[in-house]
Amino acid sequence: MPSTVQFASCEVKALKPEATLPAKFQRMLKQLDLKAMFEGRRVAVKMHVGNRLGYTTIHPLFVRTLVSAIKESGGWPFITDGSFSIPGGLARGYTEEVLGAPIYPVAGAEDKYFYEKPVGYRSLEKVQIAGNIADVDAMVVFNHGKGHGQCGFGGAIKNIAMGCVTERTRGWIHALMETEFKWDREKCEHCYICQENCPGGAISFDDQGKMSIFSHNCRYCMHCVDSCPTGAIEIGLGGIRYFQDGMARTVKTILDTFEPNRVLYVTVLTNITPLCDCWGFSTQPLVPDIGIMASKDIVAVEQAALDSVDAKNFIPNSLPAQLELAEGDGHLFERIWHKDPYLQVETAAELGLGSREYEIKEIE
Ligand code: SF4
Ligand code: SF4
Repeated sequence: MPSTVQFASCEVKALKPEATLPAKFQRMLKQLDLKAMFEGRRVAVKMHVGNRLGYTTIHPLFVRTLVSAIKESGGWPFITDGSFSIPGGLARGYTEEVLGAPIYPVAGAEDKYFYEKPVGYRSLEKVQIAGNIADVDAMVVFNHGKGHGQCGFGGAIKNIAMGCVTERTRGWIHALMETEFKWDREKCEHCYICQENCPGGAISFDDQGKMSIFSHNCRYCMHCVDSCPTGAIEIGLGGIRYFQDGMARTVKTILDTFEPNRVLYVTVLTNITPLCDCWGFSTQPLVPDIGIMASKDIVAVEQAALDSVDAKNFIPNSLPAQLELAEGDGHLFERIWHKDPYLQVETAAELGLGSREYEIKEIE
């Protein structure tokens, strides 16, 4: 059975406010049975408010619209994001006055309010689930869809796995990728040929001559491995999958703390930039705005969002310096980041979190 994904398109068919995205989003929320999900419950609205000079996160108008709909359904919403993102978010307009709901750091102001749960996947033994997620009855995972250097795409899975945990847990998940990088100090002659041949600028050496590879920028091209005259570098391709599998397993661990029918996933596909909002700055959108998708199935909404980002619509010259669009017919994000963004969706489906088959119900 395909899952339903509600879709409000950015397309404007008449020159009146009712024909534009915010009004369609209001109508979408009315069609979802929010009362059954949220009435009488505290509802965490987990979003990514970005950092520093970023201006392409979800517009406060959409946040306020969602907050109003939750309140109308009888729920008590609050906005939340990573503990250290909140001050910057407030400075850029995500305030209670604007949004209509308070905004709280997800694991407390010092990132120390959490509950540990076992995961048992490779080096990821456990995760620290943020207290403001583990302690609520219901949640809206409110995602800005965009590219992501480590997993290709940042949507609902990334928003939960990286955003509903402590900073320490984010480090543990990232480490899943880095376990596949090996550098042998004994063999290294410090000729720096690897660095010269690295198209992603991912290789650096510290003052003591220790080499490291920044997984975000690594394209797994193997130029460093192939060009090293002494065979000092080894890179296993498994890291791409381990990272995305680790995220999907973290998501399952977190979602298991909720009763059925208590979590809604909403993905805003506007300002689809190549980099995650955590970078703290904005670059141009890669494709024209698409719209907003919502579903009670995380796998379906993630699959639909990824499918909607069509490489044919790539806006020429929209990539910032240092990034390139590779030739080929892969997904747009894979051609930029050299990592298959569907792996996280595949694992989430295998873990029983939802269906990769979906049907779109478009909001008029
Ligand atoms: S695999 Fe390619 S992108 Fe990654 S560190 Fe080596 S040269 Fe750089
Ligand atoms: S190419 Fe090999 S030997 Fe040269 S600096 Fe890099 S790791 Fe060391």
